[in-house]
Amino acid sequence: MIEIKGIKSHRHLIFKTGFFTAVILLAALVCACSSKTVSDSPATQTRYDLLNTVITISIYDDVNDDVFNEVFDRISGIEKAMSVTLANSEISGAAAMAAKSPVVLSEETYLVVKEAYDITVESGGAFNLAIGPLVKLWGINTASPRVPVRAEIEHIKELLDYNAVVLSDTDRSVYLTFEGMSIDLGAIAKGYAGDVAAEVIKSYGVKHAIVDLGGNIITIGGRPDGSAWRIGVRNPIIGESGYIGVISVQDKSVVTSGSYERYFESGGHYYHHIFDEKTGYPADTGLLSVTIISDRSTDADKLSTVVFVLGLRDGLEFLKNYKDAEAIFITNGLEIYMTPGIIDSFAVTDNRFIIASE
Ligand code: AMP
Ligand code: MG
Repeated sequence: MIEIKGIKSHRHLIFKTGFFTAVILLAALVCACSSKTVSDSPATQTRYDLLNTVITISIYDDVNDDVFNEVFDRISGIEKAMSVTLANSEISGAAAMAAKSPVVLSEETYLVVKEAYDITVESGGAFNLAIGPLVKLWGINTASPRVPVRAEIEHIKELLDYNAVVLSDTDRSVYLTFEGMSIDLGAIAKGYAGDVAAEVIKSYGVKHAIVDLGGNIITIGGRPDGSAWRIGVRNPIIGESGYIGVISVQDKSVVTSGSYERYFESGGHYYHHIFDEKTGYPADTGLLSVTIISDRSTDADKLSTVVFVLGLRDGLEFLKNYKDAEAIFITNGLEIYMTPGIIDSFAVTDNRFIIASE
């Protein structure tokens, strides 16, 4: 069992800022280049220049490079359209036209914005697609993150009002009512990219493959021998590494939101990258991480963020609306809570973490 170290990279991050992959794929890594293979040795390609992360595709069927090229092209297109940091993206365009005029989006971007909007409304703002100004204020994605003073948070509060995001299905446009508003798809776009990757890979007739999108795992089928993929759930303790348990899955996406994924330290406190719009601070609901196992990677991504912000009890309640979504919560006290459907498929490997029940 070899561990692939899919560490998320970010060119702007300073050394104090942690930035680690959420889950670890436990599979045989053959090489970082592409090759035709059969049985247990996958054809594998890795890219380091997309979505600010490391993307590895491993295909266990006989394929040529076309499938890899098409997946990476599609992901590159998604990044160019949906990035909040690229000045020419559609999302940046919408922010530039805030308080001025609606901006017509491409079909694909509109679809993702719409899904982000819907989960925002459904979660009452726990997931907030209009969180952009708060993320910028904290500078969490930059080389110099900082803790803002209360007055700064109050000053931008109205810019986080998702009711001021106006979507029109008729012409696929988005209008941000106040100057300074911006949409941030950081909690969902990678999930969407995972679903697109799986769709492209399957269109080549592939039956066994795995995509590691910076820790978001998308499995296609099972392993070539018919067994399940084994996915390691990352140890969420800051300063530690490795995994604390293993999930066995087939044809599922596995996505984690965790406080250890991106953070900085200031005045003896750690501040992470998932914000609660109500406080203006990183969400603090007693959780270190939430892993969602779901059919769709987009669902797993958006739900892991929602549930991380809602916390254990409200998160479990919220998940009742998503029948195919299972969850593994890890609390500050190193307790593990699970939804019933995943209990038999998860094994703890680090005995400091104790399975608990409500
Ligand atoms: P994830 O790792 O999927 O939970 O997404 C975290 C990223 O989504 C952050 O880096 C921000 O760009 C953005 N984000 C932070 N807080 C929220 C929130 N409450 N709702 C939606 N997006 C958020
Ligand atoms: Mg997410």
